[in-house]
Amino acid sequence: MKFIDAHAHLTHKAKGIDRIVESGVFEQIWLMDLSGIGRLGDVLFATREELLETVRRYDGFFLAFGFLDPDHDTPETIDRLRDSGFVGLKPYKQLHPYNHEAYYPLYERAQALGMPILFHTGLIAHGTPYDPAHPHAFGPENMRPIHLAGIAEAFPELRIIAGHQGYPFLEEMQHNLYYYRNIRCDVSGYLRSVDALREILDRRAHDGTDRFFNEKMHFATDEFYGIGESNGRALRLAEFWKLYFEFVGGLYYRWGLPEEQEKFFRGNAIALRTEFMKKQGREK
Ligand SMILES: [Zn+2]
Repeated sequence: MKFIDAHAHLTHKAKGIDRIVESGVFEQIWLMDLSGIGRLGDVLFATREELLETVRRYDGFFLAFGFLDPDHDTPETIDRLRDSGFVGLKPYKQLHPYNHEAYYPLYERAQALGMPILFHTGLIAHGTPYDPAHPHAFGPENMRPIHLAGIAEAFPELRIIAGHQGYPFLEEMQHNLYYYRNIRCDVSGYLRSVDALREILDRRAHDGTDRFFNEKMHFATDEFYGIGESNGRALRLAEFWKLYFEFVGGLYYRWGLPEEQEKFFRGNAIALRTEFMKKQGREK
């Protein structure tokens, strides 16, 4: 079984991408555009054009979510992102909480176009210190999982992917999965949640569907593809999760059954992808 990495990034002048594609580990990787952020420490992110060029070059292996700046972009920006080839959106480090009403026209447009939004939730890397010339948000406060609940309610057809598990707000994330049909999450990033996952993957949602939490979560790495170290770590993370599902889930829990594992590693992502590609008129 090959995996879908449903949340990752691409670096500027990325190296080793051929090897990742040919590794046999992944059947698809979803790249989140962070060109609007530019860099994180020493890591330079791919430009929008580099990202789209990579998507075109590897014909179907990559999907791209375009960077959305909720403080400056308009609904028309979303149309342009869609037209240029982005299938989803990725906001990050905006100045107000995700559920600020000023952002609602953006969510309305994304919903109308059938574009899912992947929202970072919880712990974030440190940014640069306060500088009045370059205002930006600090800490995870504006990106708490609980802010997604209001958006899910206001836009019931919008597909919301919560990046990561929302640490230190794990309960807020679990509340969202429990109660909102249109919120799902990925397991990438800070793995402080692994202990909790063991039990919550078998929890039944109360969201109007007959689903368990493991049907609302995706495998993902959040790696910066294109840097040797990150490329290697992505492959090791795939191995880690495979072994976790085999030796913990497979022996003691319902979510470790082979058909349940398949949902986590690819099936849930495929179901979502099938839905949004159809809404966007992109299915082959
Ligand atoms: Zn990320």
